[in-house]
Amino acid sequence: RVKEQGKNNYQFYTSDMNEVVSRRMNLEIGLRKGIIKNEFTVHYQPQVDILSGTVVGVEALLRWQHPQLGLISPAEFIPLAEETGLIIPIGEWVLREACRQNKEWQDANLPPMRIAVNISTRQFQQSGFVEVVSRALKDTGLEPKYLELELTESIVQNSVHAIAIMHKLKEMGLFLSIDDFGTGYSSLSYLKLFPIDSLKIDQSFTRNLMEDAKDEALVHTIINMAHNLGLKVIAEGVETGEQLQYLLQRHCNEAQGYYFSKPVPPDNISNLLGSVSA
Ligand code: C2E
Ligand code: MG
Ligand code: MG
Ligand code: MG
Repeated sequence: RVKEQGKNNYQFYTSDMNEVVSRRMNLEIGLRKGIIKNEFTVHYQPQVDILSGTVVGVEALLRWQHPQLGLISPAEFIPLAEETGLIIPIGEWVLREACRQNKEWQDANLPPMRIAVNISTRQFQQSGFVEVVSRALKDTGLEPKYLELELTESIVQNSVHAIAIMHKLKEMGLFLSIDDFGTGYSSLSYLKLFPIDSLKIDQSFTRNLMEDAKDEALVHTIINMAHNLGLKVIAEGVETGEQLQYLLQRHCNEAQGYYFSKPVPPDNISNLLGSVSA
């Protein structure tokens, strides 16, 4: 088939491939250097209690400023960091930085709130993960109840191990949530086994909530299911007042999205507290 399409097509295809491969190699080498050279920063996005309109948490989202390639999206570099194992040092850095930042806000007398940190399954499954978390809390002085870990459904791959770790984290007093809920390939049975506190409805369901009756049915069902299981529920990717009104009527607990704020640098957070309202 390649021959049929002629030489030019074939060459075009290979040079394209080379570009992808060399960007990948560049990023991989860059990731290693980036840790040492302080190229990572964390932005924060508010999580709002829908009924009261107050900010009850912020999600820490990693940002990488590459010296040549500019700002690179975590959607691109996190998968690479997971494949190479670099997610372990990078993830630990984010965790410690988020805890430190939250303590700094508390020491500056901002209203206390939870900080939510995304944890890759590979990071969660490393031996000594519980110690990494407890050290981050101890070293920064942050109380465990102000730290939330966002896990994904892919941790069910090794669920016996995962459940044991989650119980230890719960005993420490942390808040645990399942991120991107409904997009994994796992069965629902883990919901009765995992000691979690909340579900985050994936933004792909929230996005067309008002236009697509099926998305609406899914969002409505996830909210009810979470509540029936005694869990809180937070909707990601809320962009409009109509979506927020719908979520309020359906008793969704919290919302997060551009409607309130994009992820912002830490200095901008104090301006957002109190100013957002449902
Ligand atoms: P996530 O954890 O589901 O984070 C939510 C993503 O949705 C963020 O993208 C956020 O900027 C974006 N978002 C928030 N509100 C809206 C909205 O209203 N509309 C739209 N269209 N998007 C919205 P971001 O920051 O690019 O991060 C992408 C993903 O990268 C995250 O998805 C998370 O899975 C991963 N990630 C980010 N930081 C970390 C980290 O420190 N560790 C790990 N393991 N993964 C991370
Ligand atoms: Mg998340
Ligand atoms: Mg996530
Ligand atoms: Mg998500």
